[in-house]
Amino acid sequence: MTFEQIATLAITQKLHLATQDQLNNLKGVHLLHNALYADSLFIQDGVLFVMARTETEKRLLLISATREPGSAFTGQAGSTGGASWKACPLSAENADALRHAFPWTAPRSLHDRRTTFGCGDRLGRATAGHIRALRRYQVAPVLAQQSMRELKLTNRTYRNVIDDTSFLVFQCGYTEGFGADGDHLKTIPDIEAALAAGMTMITLDLSEVMRPQAAAFPDAQIDSEYATLASDVRLTVDTVYADKTVDLGSGEKLTFPRAEARRCAVMYTTALDFAKQVYDFLVTQKGAGHFDLEISIDETTTPTLPSHHLFFIRELIRRQVRIVSMAPRFIGEFQKGIDYIGDIAEFRRQFTTHCRIAKAYGDYKISVHSGSDKFSIFPIVGEVTGGRFHEKTAGTSWLEAVRLAAQEAPGLYRRMHDVALKRLPDALKLYHITPDLTSIPDPRSLPDAALPKLMDLNAARQVLHVTYGFILENQTLKAELFALLHTAEEAHNMLLDRHFTRHLEGLGIPKK
Ligand SMILES: [Zn+2]
Repeated sequence: MTFEQIATLAITQKLHLATQDQLNNLKGVHLLHNALYADSLFIQDGVLFVMARTETEKRLLLISATREPGSAFTGQAGSTGGASWKACPLSAENADALRHAFPWTAPRSLHDRRTTFGCGDRLGRATAGHIRALRRYQVAPVLAQQSMRELKLTNRTYRNVIDDTSFLVFQCGYTEGFGADGDHLKTIPDIEAALAAGMTMITLDLSEVMRPQAAAFPDAQIDSEYATLASDVRLTVDTVYADKTVDLGSGEKLTFPRAEARRCAVMYTTALDFAKQVYDFLVTQKGAGHFDLEISIDETTTPTLPSHHLFFIRELIRRQVRIVSMAPRFIGEFQKGIDYIGDIAEFRRQFTTHCRIAKAYGDYKISVHSGSDKFSIFPIVGEVTGGRFHEKTAGTSWLEAVRLAAQEAPGLYRRMHDVALKRLPDALKLYHITPDLTSIPDPRSLPDAALPKLMDLNAARQVLHVTYGFILENQTLKAELFALLHTAEEAHNMLLDRHFTRHLEGLGIPKK
């Protein structure tokens, strides 16, 4: 069917003359041979809005019996049977018009939500699958989320990321609100670009202004570096922290030996000053309380000791920086796309202290980065935080698209797998993973039916996880993958739903 035929059929069935209540009764029903997404049926000022699809593409369809529909929207227009229609491509300008007409398709601040879950979507095709899983649970989704590194590797902009999300939020009729995270931003110009595109959450990555190497400095080196810090900084450190004990409640106390307090100052003072500069910038751009600031100190070599976390948050507060969430670097390894590697009992001990600090100093959320697939620690995260946390996943959704290829298009999968192995050395310059390559069977020697199982194998998951940019560089593979994501949209959504439901269940998030 063409969009003209779809519009004509919808008009024949008088969908545009229905009330919103009547349309709501159609939600969840297959309409016009699946050419319309029933969850996206909305009537506004005499205009019916609905997302429509053909074999190859989607458009936003507008129909009205009383006037030319949607003057803010552009697209192919026509009229039949006393009604006018317009089929609008999923362009940047139509995305803007959509957010204007339906404000729930625009991202917003989630600072008032107890449990939040970040769903990175590198391809811009995963939101419907994310919503299918998350809308059944008491959790607020951050549906748009991408780092600068991911933007570069996928050749997208923050506007692309938000626009793709807005259209899919509309397709699902998901009116409950979602966030948009400019993830791992390191500079004020990058933050400015993310805000301009409409990102409502900023994850400030301080890894380049921190000095994690100070963790290993001998005391004498700490003393000499400490002596170069400003005198007011030294006065604070020596009077507020050195040899003082802090009561975190629940019977837990943390003590700062003088040398450790000075080590924290050497490690974090530049980062803290930069965080203050960024916070002030955000306030001038958006107004206090109108953005969600997360501070990330996770992309570093050494774990954030609870005492260092405590020093860090107290110094942020002293600088009047308010955060919604914080991502420490936890003990153990959080490698992309696979389970936690490390001592689970020790993780629980330190994680509990991190949560007590967060509770005592403003009740901000602890953020778990590289949080996908960490099934062995999810119950601990859910239990210890009592549900007050931010969980961040990114490439694990891409892996479900890869699984879809393995399941539905074996030839495409084998070629993607080839590129992944060839370009792994390049990807390893950007991502820290340690896959055992000898454990991955050659997909050419496997029957088609065995290919999806590769996405249950840690090493194969990791290799495909980090090489996405190099796979997408190949325009043939990219076009075939996107065509598959369109034709097999339902199978893709089912895979995502299953995968994210496992996460939500593991974290113990209650159902609605
Ligand atoms: Zn991170």
